Amino acid sequence: MSVDTVIDGGTLVTAERTYEGALAIDDGTIVGVGAVDQFPDADQVVDATGKYVMPGVVDPHVHVADPFSIDSYESASKAAALGGTTTVIGFAFQGWNPDTEAFDGSYSLPEAIESVRTRGADSLVDFGVHGALTEETDEGLEDLAEVVPNGVPSIKMFTAYEVGLSNGFMHRVFQRLADLDGVGVLHTEDDSVCEALTEACKREGKGDPVHYPRSRPDYAEAMAADDAVRMALETGAKYYGIHTSCRKSAEVLAAAREDGSQVRGETCVHFTTLDESVYEDQGTLPLFAPPMRTPDDIEAMFEHLQTGSLDVVSTDHCAYTEESKQVDNWWDSPFGANLLQTGFPVFHDEAVNERGLSYPTLVRLVATAPAQTFGLPEKGTLTPGTDADVIVFDPDASYTIDASDNESKADFSIFEGREVTGRVEKTFVRGTLVADDGEIVADPGHGRFVERVEPDWSA
Ligand SMILES: [Zn+2]
Repeated sequence: MSVDTVIDGGTLVTAERTYEGALAIDDGTIVGVGAVDQFPDADQVVDATGKYVMPGVVDPHVHVADPFSIDSYESASKAAALGGTTTVIGFAFQGWNPDTEAFDGSYSLPEAIESVRTRGADSLVDFGVHGALTEETDEGLEDLAEVVPNGVPSIKMFTAYEVGLSNGFMHRVFQRLADLDGVGVLHTEDDSVCEALTEACKREGKGDPVHYPRSRPDYAEAMAADDAVRMALETGAKYYGIHTSCRKSAEVLAAAREDGSQVRGETCVHFTTLDESVYEDQGTLPLFAPPMRTPDDIEAMFEHLQTGSLDVVSTDHCAYTEESKQVDNWWDSPFGANLLQTGFPVFHDEAVNERGLSYPTLVRLVATAPAQTFGLPEKGTLTPGTDADVIVFDPDASYTIDASDNESKADFSIFEGREVTGRVEKTFVRGTLVADDGEIVADPGHGRFVERVEPDWSA
């Protein structure tokens, strides 16, 4: 008897602890952790001396081949693999036609999900989707009973933009989600406040990107979060606040969960590492919503991550070309930035090296918590019997971020020139080495669509 792979000599990291030991992989699954002499012979032994061996990153907020991103599943998943991410959760947008790239109402939610499954066939890493409701129709509400129990238990709703929903309709969605045990995933910014402030910028000729953050202020994010989270509490639905950017909206989530209610939240790598001065330095490149905030908001993100009132760190990866960002006024720029390949190394460097967070906390925030939050029991752990999604991480290697070696179709990085210490050396997806020393070493299509289960948040 033998196993496929043993990773030996490294320090294993889980959300609970670090320990010296070896990890055995067979047939895509972790089959043992512990002393190497307990394991059968391996076809391949990976020497991880001096390295950390941890679960692959689970990024529950990425935009790939959707209305907001030029990446294909192939390009984005290669970037993910190089950055240590082994599972991504993207979005299937109700009403969006991938052929015409327009919201023309032609795809129902189940059809949109099926379309992502098909278009993701060339993914290198595993992928799931959130359903995104963009229309206030009874048909969309009825579709929830089909999609939530069948692999897509989380439903994205926006309070802003043309895809935004009214509070009344969101309330109906929360009622359905409460019955179905699904999760409401909320982008919260008060639309009319942001619109009015954007119009004021246009009137006053404030087209320089330095004015952009004032058009989508922190209180507008907190106002919409407060409305949405109240509806979730009143209806008994699970609530997940995405891309929390500021102290005011983190406090809304923290207050709502004081009684043990089912409220969770994420922030993103950029909200923990960069502030609004980026608009002076980088123009429209870091233009996305919500905007970058103040240094105090960065402190707030770490405070809430450490107290546990924010659970997850994601990227909100969304690829555009630098050329498409070259506009006269910020309001003509597309919103989004490329983060999949750089997000984990940058967050590690800031959180562990600069701020002293522990490796188990890091693993909890980027792998274990997102997997548990979104119904992926096979992911985000090193527990025998689960998927062998594993990274070997060199904590001492330093390098400078350079978008020219990034696999995303985006040709710029908001972290360009940033030196980070800590580098993903090897990435395994279900036991297969997909990225090795900065190179992709497996064929696209290795990734599978993951059917998720309705998550249990009571633990
Ligand atoms: Zn997003």
